[in-house]
Amino acid sequence: MSEPPPAEPPGSLLGIGVSPGHTAGPVARMAAPPELPARRPVVDPPAEVKAVGAALEAVAAELERRAGAAASAEAVAILEAQAMMAADPMLREEAERLASEGLDAAHALDAAFAAHREQLVALGGYFGERAADLDDLRNRAVAAVLGLPMPGIPSPGHPFVLVAADLSPADTVTLGPEVLAIVTEQGGPTSHTAILARARGVPAIVACPGAAALADGDPVAVDGDTGRVDTGIREAFAQEIRVRHGLERARLAASRGPGRTADGHPVPLLLNVGSAADLRDGAGEGVGLFRTEFLFLDRRTPPSLDEQVAAYAAVFERSPKVVVRTLDAGTDKPLPFLGLPPEPNPALGLRGLRVDRVRPAVLDTQLAAIAQAAGDCEVWVMAPMVATWQEARDFAERARAHGLTRVGAMVEIPAAALLADLLLEYVDFLSVGTNDLGQYTFAADRMHPGLADLLDPGQPALLRLVADCARAGRDAGKPVGVCGEAAGDPRLAPVLAGLGVTSLSMSAASVPAVRESLAGVTFEECRVLAEQALSAGFRERHDRRWKPRPSGANAVEA
Ligand code: PEP
Ligand code: MG
Repeated sequence: MSEPPPAEPPGSLLGIGVSPGHTAGPVARMAAPPELPARRPVVDPPAEVKAVGAALEAVAAELERRAGAAASAEAVAILEAQAMMAADPMLREEAERLASEGLDAAHALDAAFAAHREQLVALGGYFGERAADLDDLRNRAVAAVLGLPMPGIPSPGHPFVLVAADLSPADTVTLGPEVLAIVTEQGGPTSHTAILARARGVPAIVACPGAAALADGDPVAVDGDTGRVDTGIREAFAQEIRVRHGLERARLAASRGPGRTADGHPVPLLLNVGSAADLRDGAGEGVGLFRTEFLFLDRRTPPSLDEQVAAYAAVFERSPKVVVRTLDAGTDKPLPFLGLPPEPNPALGLRGLRVDRVRPAVLDTQLAAIAQAAGDCEVWVMAPMVATWQEARDFAERARAHGLTRVGAMVEIPAAALLADLLLEYVDFLSVGTNDLGQYTFAADRMHPGLADLLDPGQPALLRLVADCARAGRDAGKPVGVCGEAAGDPRLAPVLAGLGVTSLSMSAASVPAVRESLAGVTFEECRVLAEQALSAGFRERHDRRWKPRPSGANAVEA
């Protein structure tokens, strides 16, 4: 492995590294939506008409350009659809008419978008759902006419480090290849922004309040492993870091094969996906967590059975085995189509499987769609947020009634971990979601940037719950995997294997480093590491005294 670069950067900021890798480049900030200024008296209406047209054309052209450079088919489709909406002749006619009647260009655009939005909402269904896209276009058009930076993901025309207060899942989906790294002021280590960033394989740091001071063009180096942002670096230094990053990515990308320890103990490495776009050929040995809610995040109407069958089949057709999770709505994954009222404490409210208490048809339609889409794929289905053995039993009955034969429960609530043996009387497997299990064990919001130490899955309290689940699985002869972010941590993977976890599921970008880490230890060493971690915690992960070695045995240094 290469040595760290020698240069000394003049300053640094600290956040939480959530997606590994070390790279560098100039900052481009995500601009805030523009404020509409007070109405301006118009002296030359034809000039305002011209400005309206130019702004809409600029927005459409910019979106087309981004679609052309987009990394995934999903992103291309989203960006092209937005570009078409910006080029809508009816929208333009309305804005031009208002400008010709004496409104300044910014207000003419704002009013035309508002009228168009109302029409879409009135049409409902698919069209109603596009209202949010229209708001984004309105912001872009108003910014363009006011000469302000375009809101949303910036597009400076060269590779950049994206700096933002926070990112929405929709922002993350459209990240193009020119984004070298991500730094956000807010967000937590297991927030969905972090998860999606990792799935894209770009180094990322969240909870970095100092990032507020970074300005467009500032040269920075971003270390997604340590959470450090070095500022004021020289271009030669940035270039050196980028070259090293490229070489390291290429080395890891070439890694192939099943997950196993140095002495051959198998630990299948599975993928966490939100759609077929997250699959990578040859990356994993199947899908260990298909988060179905990501397909329907922005929907205002329930997806039909046929629509769901098509979306699930797109993943099932490309993988020999898929563990699919039924909808996990709530808190950081709102599903507007469920029409659930706001709750004072949503993380403790109607989320995950609990939604079934008020919308039972949603689960039945989904189970039917999963069964129908299965084809030749070995489909396992599991419920999120199971708390009691009765919930596990009822879910298993419902899933089996739809012809699904491999039924499991996620362990994300301490109550479920405490009852692992009972749950396994009703279900065929368990999958430990360490993101929520950490949140609920430590009573620490998984998005809270100030509680990262409590959300660290290396904590012995959390590992003891994982160990209990693994033991129950061993006693029952049933698999117990981990699909939370802990599974993708190369330094934690041997510990989880040593606890008896039977598979690890993670984003495709995390697989090579985890594979390498497991290959460097024997199963007995995994067990020793697990014992130490259970009693003392996995403190080494912070001070780096323990680290996997690319070849030969790993060690715990005193
Ligand atoms: C988890 O909680 O660990 C998990 C895998 O589910 P999600 O992150 O989607 O809530
Ligand atoms: Mg969860």
